[in-house]
Amino acid sequence: MTQLLDELYNIVGREHVYSAYSDRYCYTYDASFCTVQSGNLPAFIVHPGSVEEVSQLMQLANREKIPVIPRGAGSNVSGGTIPVRDCMVMVLTRLNRILEIDSRNLVAVVEPGVVTGVFQQEVEKLGLFYPPDPASLPFSTLGGNAAECAGGPRGVKYGVTRDYVLGLQVVLPDGQIVETGGRTLKNVAGYDLTRLFVGSEGTLGIITRITLRLIPLPEAKQTMLAVYDSVDGAAETVAAVISAGIIPATLEFLDQVYIKNIEEYAHVGFPLDAAAVLLIEVDGDPAVIEKQVVKIEKICRQQGATQVRVARTSQEAGDLWQARRAAFGALARLKPTVIGEDATVPRTNLPEMVKRIRRIAEEFDVLIAVVGHAGDGNLHATFLCDERDQEEMARVDQAIAAVINAALALQGTVSGEHGIGRMKSGFLARQLGPAALGLMRNIKRTLDPNNILNPAVMFGEGQE
Ligand SMILES: Cc1cc2nc3c(=O)[nH]c(=O)nc-3n(C[C@H](O)[C@H](O)[C@H](O)COP(=O)(O)OP(=O)(O)OC[C@H]3O[C@@H](n4cnc5c(N)ncnc54)[C@H](O)[C@@H]3O)c2cc1C
Repeated sequence: MTQLLDELYNIVGREHVYSAYSDRYCYTYDASFCTVQSGNLPAFIVHPGSVEEVSQLMQLANREKIPVIPRGAGSNVSGGTIPVRDCMVMVLTRLNRILEIDSRNLVAVVEPGVVTGVFQQEVEKLGLFYPPDPASLPFSTLGGNAAECAGGPRGVKYGVTRDYVLGLQVVLPDGQIVETGGRTLKNVAGYDLTRLFVGSEGTLGIITRITLRLIPLPEAKQTMLAVYDSVDGAAETVAAVISAGIIPATLEFLDQVYIKNIEEYAHVGFPLDAAAVLLIEVDGDPAVIEKQVVKIEKICRQQGATQVRVARTSQEAGDLWQARRAAFGALARLKPTVIGEDATVPRTNLPEMVKRIRRIAEEFDVLIAVVGHAGDGNLHATFLCDERDQEEMARVDQAIAAVINAALALQGTVSGEHGIGRMKSGFLARQLGPAALGLMRNIKRTLDPNNILNPAVMFGEGQE
């Protein structure tokens, strides 16, 4: 132990290694409700400051067969950074430089610890746009976003993190440093390793540099709020808007529980008696968006909207979005345990999925609030419960399984954006089947034969 600590001090410097009990305990959580099994504390927390240090740490971990848990801001909600016993938690937040913003090639190069929102602000100062917008953007890191392939409200029009990653520098479990992809939009040299690492949840390699694609900042945007007294009307509007040939930048659905909570918390003018609201944003050429606003308003009313409000100022629009981003956290006022599901369906199946979630809530007598990036079919059935109540948690577990099965039955996926982590490893086989799951395990074994990188994530603890 002392010898290992000395080696760690030599690699990253004594001030960047934490081994006291209280420090180790601080890294036993993330934003999921997964908790570490008693005694499963990490052995060390290390904060490397360069790719060379990451590489040396991985060589040491591989030699000593020490599990390594990469960590950005720890904001994932799937248990992706919950440690295993005696592991090394590798925190990447010291690698937080924006290395380059190349306006002519619309490319940026960043280190993984850069905070998403900070990066977005920096490129916007130059008239550029980095669209992926997880609601956690004020604190999540670009490395964590890449490892989770994070998405957000703008996914419907602009896609998710993988659509913006052109290349990566990755440290493999044995310490080798590899470069994938490049700086060009077109690049078909060999297998697409970039896409393999994006969304790999820290199980295949440590991302130490990211080359990102940028696009020009849309000239204008307009935010609208449509209010419904029936959930069905709001859900049906989503497909109707897109069938009319309009792809809004965002199309967010919030149900009654969310509306009430957000309003009581943020006071942005959500009507307390509404059954559902849609928060819609269109962006682009001002003349085009003006026409789109008129068309969307008409469609909303045809589908039963009782009120359609267009934000008059950017402040008003900003307040609506800030309230939306606070939605998940605000629910903690109702119940101490908030579990955000993210099963996702093709958008035309959204109305049916919402109905099935309602039925599941009744059948298992659990409180489920529904919010979602409805434009891309990504719903968040949010379970409000109390993890100290074992009887309630048993019903919640059954209801979660039922929601996931419902999504799969409707041609959906077990996870649209939060990842498999520890929480959904039991459901992966249901979606993939044995052949695809076996292929994924083989990829993991090939890259990480000692199973040291995030060993409990994706396939479940004790398995690789
Ligand atoms: C309030 C709130 C709102 C959220 N909203 C959204 C949302 O709208 N959309 C969405 O997609 N997610 C959302 N999330 C989930 C979370 O913010 C995202 O998953 C985010 O991408 C995680 O970034 P992070 O820096 O916190 O990564 P962490 O949580 O620290 O890590 C996430 C995963 O990536 C791995 N990892 C981290 N850094 C690296 C690296 N450099 N190399 C290799 N692996 C690494 C970790 O091992 C872990 O498996 C939300 C979470 C919260 C708390």
